[in-house]
Amino acid sequence: MATAEVRTLRQFLESDQVIDCDCSNYWICSHTGPLRIELAILRLGSEFDFYAGRHELAAHTYCSVCGKFHPTFRLGWKTRPATYTGLHGGGATPISVLTAPALLSAWVEPDDWLVGGKGVRKFGPRR
Ligand SMILES: [Zn+2]
Repeated sequence: MATAEVRTLRQFLESDQVIDCDCSNYWICSHTGPLRIELAILRLGSEFDFYAGRHELAAHTYCSVCGKFHPTFRLGWKTRPATYTGLHGGGATPISVLTAPALLSAWVEPDDWLVGGKGVRKFGPRR
C-alpha cells in the first residue's frame, strides 16, 4: 500500500501523524506530549524536513514542565489507528459466539470433559 511520505512539518500537520515528545530529563521529569507543530512551523518553516532536521528541531523544542531542551521524538497518531483494535497483522480474526450465534449450535463438547464417566459431572444431591 502506498501512503504519501510524511516528512515536512506541513505534511505532519495535514496527516494523521503527530510527533510526540518525551522529555529527556530522565529520572527528574517524565513529561510527554505532542509537539505543537504549528509553533514549530512558525519557527522553522512549513517545509522543514523532520527526519533530516530533527536534531535542529529538538534544539528548538523544550519541555513545558521542566524547560529542558532536546526531547526524544516519537511518532504517534492523532487518532488511534486500527492496529490498536487487533486488526493489525492480517492474521486470524477472533470470532465470538456473541457475534456469531451459529457457532453455538455447532458447539460440540470436547471428549475429555467426559473422562471418568457421566457421574463426575453431577453436582446434585447424592442418591
Ligand atoms: Zn521535562
